[in-house]
Amino acid sequence: MNCIDLRSDTVSWPTPDMRQAMADAQVGDDVFGEDPTINQLQAEAARRLGKEAGLFVASGTMGNLVAILAHCGRGDEVILGDKSHTFVYEAGGIAALGGIMPHTLPVQPDGTLPLDMIRHAVRPDNIHMPITRLISLENTQGTVGGIPLPKPYMDAVGAVTKENGLTLHVDGARIFNAATALDCDVADLVAAVDSITFCLSKGLCAPAGSVLVGSAAFIDKARRIRKLVGGGMRQVGVLAAAGLIALEKMTLRLHEDHHHARLLAEGLAQMPQIEIDLARVQTNMVFFYLRESAGITAPALTKKLGAQGIRIMPMGERGFRAVTHYWIRAEHIPQILNAMQKELS
Ligand SMILES: *Cc1c(COP(=O)(O)O)cnc(C)c1O
Repeated sequence: MNCIDLRSDTVSWPTPDMRQAMADAQVGDDVFGEDPTINQLQAEAARRLGKEAGLFVASGTMGNLVAILAHCGRGDEVILGDKSHTFVYEAGGIAALGGIMPHTLPVQPDGTLPLDMIRHAVRPDNIHMPITRLISLENTQGTVGGIPLPKPYMDAVGAVTKENGLTLHVDGARIFNAATALDCDVADLVAAVDSITFCLSKGLCAPAGSVLVGSAAFIDKARRIRKLVGGGMRQVGVLAAAGLIALEKMTLRLHEDHHHARLLAEGLAQMPQIEIDLARVQTNMVFFYLRESAGITAPALTKKLGAQGIRIMPMGERGFRAVTHYWIRAEHIPQILNAMQKELS
């Protein structure tokens, strides 16, 4: 990469071996179910997450949309976080295309939705009310700093789901970051979940794509809906070839990104102009804030860092989000800290 880009892990380029695998990929028509590389990716994704079947989709947004449309009918209600990606950043797709009601609960600082609030949000059998159909969680929870939701919590929500005859979907865009941070098996982490999407294209470096996994019957339904939203693609094995490397190799190195995030956070914590809660840096995201005394705003500092080849995401007047990924190497961390120090002093 030609700059140090911390704005997101979505900016990561495919790795050299991904580009090679893409060039060599065997392909077929995936709408006919004939792309061998896609079929291999879908089977491998399902196996890794402990579910029956998988479906390649164009993006995480499409994965969540297809999943929620498959789980819910018009007028049904989905319980999800008020700071969840699906509620805030997916263009209102579930309402626009599915007539599905979002019932939001406040995302807690630890990324969870309180269990008693979930129980309370489930509608009773009453003709005045929408029918609660689905609970949707996000793991890691991005907007609170990439916080992983641990297995006991996932299992507890799974139990509430079952008690109430509902289904549980997980937006696991960064589920492998969660499993890495929690040092647990990813299939174990989502054992209580009915369906889950994860992104091949973020920290896992593939150029595009997500995979939705769940039961074979659910995936059959989801495949039809993917076609409906224009997501039936043809010789898409070229993307799956990169996706297989993402799944098989890149999931094994995420601890490096987490380590780099920690080094960055610890360096930032040394700067008197910066406020940061180190306990909240648990995966590949670093949220930090400029103190009043810094005498510069986040957008202004962003501009100055940009001039030095360092790209970062300002959040409001004082906040920042920095995300580590494969293309942020260990030697970049002191470079970033030095640049920051220079601009702040
Ligand atoms: C990135 C992301 C998605 C999907 O984003 P796309 O850009 O559509 O791939 C969904 N959920 C979360 C939490 C994300 O971070």
